[in-house]
Amino acid sequence: ATPIAILVGTGRGAQLGVLITGPEALEVAERVDTIVLDKTGTLTEGRMSVAGRTVFADPDADADRLVASLEHASEHPVARALAGLVDEHEDVTDFAGLAGRGVTGTVAGRAVFAGRPAFVAEYLGAELADDVQQAVDAAAVSGATAVVAGWDGAVHAVYAVADTVRGDSADTVARLRDRGLDVILLTGDNEGAARAAADAVGIREVVAGVLPEQKVDEIVRLQAAGRRVAMVGDGVNDAAALATADLGIAMGGGTDAAMHASDIALTGHGLAPVLTALDLSRRTMRIIR
Ligand code: ADP
Ligand code: MG
Repeated sequence: ATPIAILVGTGRGAQLGVLITGPEALEVAERVDTIVLDKTGTLTEGRMSVAGRTVFADPDADADRLVASLEHASEHPVARALAGLVDEHEDVTDFAGLAGRGVTGTVAGRAVFAGRPAFVAEYLGAELADDVQQAVDAAAVSGATAVVAGWDGAVHAVYAVADTVRGDSADTVARLRDRGLDVILLTGDNEGAARAAADAVGIREVVAGVLPEQKVDEIVRLQAAGRRVAMVGDGVNDAAALATADLGIAMGGGTDAAMHASDIALTGHGLAPVLTALDLSRRTMRIIR
């Protein structure tokens, strides 16, 4: 039978914006010693904006319009920023979104693509040209996410997309550490953008440039080293890692995929509700003993 304290704790959680899916979650939360944080939409607001753009090869079509139309069909924070480049979007057919990689589809009769540099190189079956790589590097150095885009087999633009660290991230990371937890940043974004966000909030341990399945590998690696891992994420790209972690915590305002894969779903704003969840579990388990 479920102890009364767990039921009370679960009910209290609902009032505090901490939705607990199973009776074990509060027990597991108390034993966690490592917190793995996603970057985009978790440590950062996930409300990205286009900070810069480099256009290549005299495009005979409007790059912003084609890319924005394609990204309009995706819900990734990067996609929402790029979709905002134009007010009116063209129809997209054959849309395909690859979590943590990028998107492809047909817009105005052209086969349009946009995504992380490695994905685009793989999609095109060729290394990125030097001038494209230079634009990618420049975006990364500035702490932005580089999105390589184009159509019909050629790169036509590199966008630098920037995000803002959440107002409560640095304080929350400090408090997690005060509670004796190891804090790790795990992101699909490039090393430069990852380091910029990590530095801003005081995280030293960073694993960047990983695909969604590699996020899972990293969680498994930590578990194999004896860690009890909580993963905090918001995206489709985090779902598998959230399900693999000892405790999955979905950010408020995150995707349904993240919520369904998690043991705890936050309904509030920002990163601080993670502390609320951990403190609730500690209080609840203390009552039981
Ligand atoms: P994070 O782990 O920081 O949440 P993701 O794993 O979701 O990041 O994405 C990793 C990278 O894949 C992004 O930084 C971006 O370069 C690329 N990407 C993902 N989705 C899209 C998209 N819809 N359009 C363009 N690029 C994308
Ligand atoms: Mg994310």
